[in-house]
Amino acid sequence: MSSIIQLLPDHVANQIAAGEVVQRPASVVKELLENAVDAKANDIKLIIKDAGKSLVQVIDNGVGMSVTDARLCFERHATSKIRAAEDLFSLHTKGFRGEALASIAAIAHVEMKTKQEQDELGTHLAIEGGKFVSQDVAVLPKGTSFAVKNLFFNIPARRNFLKSDTVEHRHIVDEFQRVALAHPNIHFTMYHNGSEMFNLPASNLRQRIVNIFSGKTNEKLVPIQESTEIVGIQGFVSKPEFAKKNRGEQFFFVNDRFIKSGYLHHAIMAAYEGLLKDGCQPSYFIYLDVPPNTIDINIHPTKTEIKFDDEHALYAILRSAIKHSLGQFNVAPVLDFDRDSNLDTPYEYEGKEASMPLIQVDANFNPFGDPDPAPTKSYSSGSGSSYSGSGSSYRKPEPSNWESLYVGLKQDTETITDIQDIQFESEEVTGSLFNDKEIEEAIYKTYQIHKKYIVSPIKSGMVIIDQQRAHQRVLYEQFLANMTVNQASSQQLLFPLNLYFSSQEIILISELQLSLVNTGFVFEEVKEDHVVISGIPVNVTESEVSILLEQLLSDLQDEIPESSFSQNDTIAKSMAKSLAVKTGTYLTEREQENLVNGLFACKEPNVSPFHKPTFITMSVEDLDKKFAV
Ligand code: ADP
Ligand code: MG
Repeated sequence: MSSIIQLLPDHVANQIAAGEVVQRPASVVKELLENAVDAKANDIKLIIKDAGKSLVQVIDNGVGMSVTDARLCFERHATSKIRAAEDLFSLHTKGFRGEALASIAAIAHVEMKTKQEQDELGTHLAIEGGKFVSQDVAVLPKGTSFAVKNLFFNIPARRNFLKSDTVEHRHIVDEFQRVALAHPNIHFTMYHNGSEMFNLPASNLRQRIVNIFSGKTNEKLVPIQESTEIVGIQGFVSKPEFAKKNRGEQFFFVNDRFIKSGYLHHAIMAAYEGLLKDGCQPSYFIYLDVPPNTIDINIHPTKTEIKFDDEHALYAILRSAIKHSLGQFNVAPVLDFDRDSNLDTPYEYEGKEASMPLIQVDANFNPFGDPDPAPTKSYSSGSGSSYSGSGSSYRKPEPSNWESLYVGLKQDTETITDIQDIQFESEEVTGSLFNDKEIEEAIYKTYQIHKKYIVSPIKSGMVIIDQQRAHQRVLYEQFLANMTVNQASSQQLLFPLNLYFSSQEIILISELQLSLVNTGFVFEEVKEDHVVISGIPVNVTESEVSILLEQLLSDLQDEIPESSFSQNDTIAKSMAKSLAVKTGTYLTEREQENLVNGLFACKEPNVSPFHKPTFITMSVEDLDKKFAV
């Protein structure tokens, strides 16, 4: 019987192996940037077109390659970085597998230009799908330029699996930031479709962080410093009050290599224990220095997870270093008094000018003067009110005079009917929670239990409503309705809000701008690191805006929906999630009623926007059964 096993041809083997190294354009970015860093460049440019789908180019001023190396570097397992297995335990470079260039060349069109300092001329080389196309000598500056075009041109299935440009671009920025944060001493620039997105001059670490994540970051940062035999730690964490709703700014580096570690993340969260609001995340930029022989980098093909020899010790040291810094910089617990919501101004009143009270003094009235007084000398005060001068002799005021004290108050029966229209401030605060049109009268009484459920008798028995989910549903439908008819009302802010975001977040915001405007947001400016907001949706308060946008950005991190319908849907969901009353919030009777009525006026009252049940019912028979023991 003939044998059925065959050795795969090189180009097939390379294509298969490429799948492990290159998942998306961002993987190419990572490999090329790391090669440039390993080549000791101090100036690295990243140029991207169409989120890397048509071009990823990295230009460095590093050591370059000789003519032979220029060809050799595309061979599998061709590396200048290790020579023997022992070298794996004293690694000081990013790469060592010698696989990246072979993999990339197997699935793209690559053009490389490279020159070493001592050489007169450099090498210009083209390779497509693993096949050399051309090689020339060329006049070049010192360093290397790799241009990777038409990624996955020969694997259509992979190409079709790429996500939208926004998503792929986000992955690229993530990789770029990771490398840039690991090497603040290198000048990095990034261009996308011809425009400069980052220009990060060589600087210290703090400055690098600030340059990447906007000027506002500086005041957030608390330095961390610790040095022990097993680990040196430095970097920054954010003050607890700047904690964010998403995990976008959390970075670990081990020996200048970005890594992910759920375990070490936990150590950091433990250091913040009791300092963070629910669901909030600190930012951190932690740099660990460990002897190379105490880690194993080889554990994951794309090398973002590593194994430490003594994880437990590392955990304890990290946690205490951060605790120490948070304490030292005086950011540890401040007494947190519960806010008295009665002191809040209901938002309907915010931004309104104070108006003069309706009751005015009749300037001409003088209880001591004539019943029919001649005009007396009056003094005008700055505010425009005036009072009359003294009269001559005392006289018992006539009833008609007495009445004239209250000029300005309506005197007929209207006053009485109008009382119903007077809204008391404390009620307004609560009423503003559910800005629904009041649905006629609630027929049944409601009760709140455990600050979580609202219980109300209904004809057949009783209904138990989950307050948080119900409110999510009400708000969700409101937002969605506003957005689809494009006529949300907006409240003008007295002082526009200036909110800072990373450039990546700004891109997301500008893509969503139209949908956000439809909810009632008014953007005065959307600049590269901040937005100015001069109007907000009516059912949002000013203090909620930044939380709301952060939540939205974090909800959208993975995917920006393409169609405007699903964009609206995502925004409405996210805003409903942020703004809905939470479990644990006390609701007045009026609020409970509003919520119940609002919920049952919804198109789909049974489920929250996240498809969880909003209420359950129990019939009298159900109850009877429970008692029939
Ligand atoms: P690795 O980085 O794991 O060694 P690569 O396939 O990424 O493998 O690169 C292969 C070799 O090509 C490297 O070891 C290095 O010698 C050379 N090389 C790659 N990129 C550059 C560059 N930008 N400048 C100089 N040499 C480079
Ligand atoms: Mg490499």
